[in-house]
Amino acid sequence: MAREVIGAAVLSVGDELLRGDITDTNAVFLSRALSDLGFDVRRLGAVGDDLDSIATVLRQTLNVARVVIITGGLGPTEDDLTRQGIAAVLGETPEVDETLLAGIRARFTAMGRPMTANNAQQALLIPSATAIPNPDGTAPGWLIQGDHAIAALPGPPSEMRPMWADTVRPALEGLLPTRVAMIALMTFGVGESVVAERIAEIIHADPDVTVATYARAAGVEVHITARGATDAEADRRAGEAAQAVRQALGEAVYGEGNVTLADVIGGCLAKDRASVATMESATGGMLSNLITNTDGSSQYFRGGIVAYSREAKAAHGVPAEIMDAHGLISPETAVAMAGAARRRFGAEIGLATTGIAGSDAVESHPPGTAFVAVDCGGRIRTRELHRPGSRETAKMYFAQSALDLLRLELHRKASP
Ligand code: AMP
Ligand code: MG
Repeated sequence: MAREVIGAAVLSVGDELLRGDITDTNAVFLSRALSDLGFDVRRLGAVGDDLDSIATVLRQTLNVARVVIITGGLGPTEDDLTRQGIAAVLGETPEVDETLLAGIRARFTAMGRPMTANNAQQALLIPSATAIPNPDGTAPGWLIQGDHAIAALPGPPSEMRPMWADTVRPALEGLLPTRVAMIALMTFGVGESVVAERIAEIIHADPDVTVATYARAAGVEVHITARGATDAEADRRAGEAAQAVRQALGEAVYGEGNVTLADVIGGCLAKDRASVATMESATGGMLSNLITNTDGSSQYFRGGIVAYSREAKAAHGVPAEIMDAHGLISPETAVAMAGAARRRFGAEIGLATTGIAGSDAVESHPPGTAFVAVDCGGRIRTRELHRPGSRETAKMYFAQSALDLLRLELHRKASP
């Protein structure tokens, strides 16, 4: 299918970005979202809280992109100049919009906080802009749909993302000559290069389907974007490609969309009315943290112990003979910890991690080595892990691996 290419750009406004005080996560999010939709992202820019700079860079950006998304600089203070910058470039004069002002006033009343005079700045609008509702904050955005589409959104990601999804994305989709459908598949346990190899044929099978892989702490994501003349056609293409990817990757695929491994095991445990408890060494509580990030985890999570030292492990029921015979970092100790967790909390399932996330070898294991174990009513499964790198990365990988091990055990149980 021949398709017209529409250029897009993302512009981030804020001195804190130029100083390196914060990471420009908005640019990452928006450029990926625009690309997924089928726009050709041609420029990412960051500019300080300065009216001339904003106007100059916006002018230049409009020369290379038909769609420009600006984030930041919509706050109530004097250094929030994005509105003025856009107005200057378009040659329009901002005026207070009474409806917006009433909305902002109502929001302050609802929060029980006084509205200060400078908040009125957030009610400014130019004739060519419509307001983008902001359910999570006071500053509405601006959407301009003319020769160019320009959207201005507040900097805080928690406000920007819903505004993008609810208002900006649907408006921009109308510019695209084709409809777009997206499916994100979540995988764990297979490296990005292996994923890419296994799905290579699918990646090149259909020019109207893009398949991209992204390595994340919680595994590799496979993003499928399909285009079609109608929504139904785009959906069908995306669905077929997703089916093919699932086939190629097998049980490595744990879910679709914004689902986590902890959500998936939570769903299984709630359904089976089974309970789980943890004993963690290397992950220092991260495993129970991940489990409890899922809504409703109190239904199946009994509790967890961080038993970091040998003494703590022994005190919580890990037999000394096992630790002496096999070492603290061993599959045997991991299994003993999982069993001890089960007994301590009276849970059907015990989950354990032991290993070394730091930079020095322990018990002759290189840093980044760990063993995770699941004891599912006496059925045992272990996995040996190697993830050198920062402590944080290693711990996250170990914790997610433990969840993955449990996921596979629960699946095996469901379909032996
Ligand atoms: P602002 O809309 O300029 O008042 O931005 C308010 C806050 O949003 C900043 O202090 C940051 O914490 C956050 N923020 C602004 N721009 C970005 C960005 N590009 N990426 C991530 N966070 C941002
Ligand atoms: Mg700012």
